[in-house]
Amino acid sequence: MPGTGEYDYLVTGGAGFIGSHLCELLLSRGNGVLVLDDLSTGSLSNLDGCSGREGFRLVVGSVLDEALTRGLVNQSRRVIHLAAAVGVENIIRQPVETIETNVRGTETVLMAAQATGVPVFIASTSEIYGKSENVPFREDGDIVLGATGRSRWSYACSKAVDEFLALAYWKDKGLPVVIGRLFNTVGPRQSGRYGMVLPRFMEQARTGRPLTVFGDGRQTRCFSLVHEIVDAIVSLSENPEAVGRVVNIGSTREIEILELAEKVRSISGSDSEIRLIPYDEAYPDDFEDMRRRVPDVTLLRELTGRVPEADVDAIIREILGS
Ligand code: UDP
Repeated sequence: MPGTGEYDYLVTGGAGFIGSHLCELLLSRGNGVLVLDDLSTGSLSNLDGCSGREGFRLVVGSVLDEALTRGLVNQSRRVIHLAAAVGVENIIRQPVETIETNVRGTETVLMAAQATGVPVFIASTSEIYGKSENVPFREDGDIVLGATGRSRWSYACSKAVDEFLALAYWKDKGLPVVIGRLFNTVGPRQSGRYGMVLPRFMEQARTGRPLTVFGDGRQTRCFSLVHEIVDAIVSLSENPEAVGRVVNIGSTREIEILELAEKVRSISGSDSEIRLIPYDEAYPDDFEDMRRRVPDVTLLRELTGRVPEADVDAIIREILGS
């Protein structure tokens, strides 16, 4: 059954941190944007730059609502599915919601898209690589997850199921899907409430509290500015060559968390102390962290012609100025 296709894009999770930047980009290109968000971790204020603009509409509801999701997919020419449980701390606190939202939500979106053949971009995560030490991570590399007794891995595992399901829809039913594995994404409007390290450090520095570095602080991540990430998402979602592929989306600029804390403190001119907190005080549940997380971005560069480049100093300054 053909849909009405009156909106260029349906963005699930569009009121979240990444989603709201994505909506701003799409609107600035003149695209019509429909957002489905349950406002569980997203917020109306994230959409201040979108609300009231021509071609924009927000529907407050859940991707678990099949009839609603089907109706909205029918009105759209493409879907970018971002709605998911976010943040390691959040995930450990709410394991049932994490698994159900991630698995059933993606299934609902794929089923609805299949009914009209609408192309879908599925946001996955670098968390999928788990404890793999095969750095930099290539999309076809093994994933190495911990025991099911450790809740953290439920997130990676639920996203892996999403990827399997999306690829199955492509292989089995010909639904055009693209999967993007997002690495640590930061920028204006990101909340520290769900455990993310950079907004936390920024808030701690701003309020003169200790910057809480977990473990020895020698674990590394690669941080990308959200504007570059949403640009990559749109570019991949519109590229026929990306269909049926899994693509890392992130920066290769690797930094230790302790160095990140030092940069936040110096760039923001804060005199907060940096405090090392052992993992067993920081997280419950025999928490396991990954030591290094770096993407191989060969495929991203091949498909989009560019990769995220902003360095951490510039990112911190941008957040401070926002
Ligand atoms: N982290 C930290 N202090 C905090 C929050 C996080 O040292 O207040 C560490 C965390 O243990 C991890 C890294 O920073 O090693 C990135 O954590 P985040 O939750 O931002 O992302 P992810 O673990 O998903 O990469």
